[in-house]
Amino acid sequence: MTDEPSSPADDLTPQTRLVTLGREPVAPGAQVGAPLVLTSTYHADGPVSYARGGNPTWTAFEEAVGSLEGGDALVVSSGMAAVAAVFSLLPHGGTVVVPDAAYNGVMATVAALEADGAATVRRVDVTDTAAVVAALDGAELLWLESPTNPLLEVADLPALTAAARSRGVLTAVDNTFSTPLLQRPLESGADVVVHSATKYLSGHSDLLLGVLVTPASEEGTARRARLARHRQLHGGIAGPVETWLALRGLRTLHLRLERACANAAVVAERAAGHPAVTRVRYPGTGAIVSLEVAGGAAAAERVCASTRVWVHATSLGGVESMLERRRRHPDEPATVPEDLVRLSLGVEDVEDLWRDLSAALDRA
Ligand SMILES: *Cc1c(COP(=O)(O)O)cnc(C)c1O
Repeated sequence: MTDEPSSPADDLTPQTRLVTLGREPVAPGAQVGAPLVLTSTYHADGPVSYARGGNPTWTAFEEAVGSLEGGDALVVSSGMAAVAAVFSLLPHGGTVVVPDAAYNGVMATVAALEADGAATVRRVDVTDTAAVVAALDGAELLWLESPTNPLLEVADLPALTAAARSRGVLTAVDNTFSTPLLQRPLESGADVVVHSATKYLSGHSDLLLGVLVTPASEEGTARRARLARHRQLHGGIAGPVETWLALRGLRTLHLRLERACANAAVVAERAAGHPAVTRVRYPGTGAIVSLEVAGGAAAAERVCASTRVWVHATSLGGVESMLERRRRHPDEPATVPEDLVRLSLGVEDVEDLWRDLSAALDRA
């Protein structure tokens, strides 16, 4: 990666850039906020002719997220649309290396490709770097998530991306859990970064959106063009209103994440001392904590059903703390324990959160 500033904003910290990027140029009387452009088409002879190909609200959001990740971003309709776009790069019958437990939509995607005979899938323990490297020979795509959802396993991104590159294997990293404030996979050599912007980037549990980010290199730019073509032809494009709301949410990412991460560290530590908790998974960073609860799936469900402040719902990365037992979803990999409750820390007062959660654990 180059340290050369490519735009005047690059001398500013990410915390400042996420507040300022994507605005209209400064001019007397111009609006301060980013534009919300609602149109299906444009007057002829401009750079974009039809709104499936581009929208100024997309561009504003892409400018901000691209700058934070250190590449060029493409906004799509959901995190799964971003996942599908990456898998469109896998040739028919190709081989993909994936974590043995990762986001269940990705697990279901590779299982469907496998069942259709469209891909060979190699499932690996991403914490075992040597085993992942050994699985790369003859593969086309390495799919990584770090930390993984919901086991919070951490992969050695620089080592794995280097091993993949030397074998001509494309590396895609789902950076949803970390956000570019905690981890920038392109700097570690990844070829594509994927986000469910539904989660931390937008941060208010009010929309679905996805982003793909590729490096500014020649190879990355060519790949971005393929992904943009997929977006245009696949047709499930991002709504401008969702995109505008996501950019509005992004403006406070640093504040939300700082509080959520601080809350996670406190709850992880206290949960480890609760007699109903048999294991705490917390990688020491981020705002997701997974607990294993004594008494199995039923006890885990009782915990989720008996909180007052914590919201019992699927999803994560919003201002409100959420929890759920992941194995209630049929697509969840069997390697995820039945009694595992995933906590997504929000920005509430941590004392209220702990009082509520510890009372729910007491009752379980
Ligand atoms: C939620 C999630 C996705 C899917 O994103 P959607 O916006 O729900 O389509 C992908 N990866 C991870 C890690 C997620 O948490």
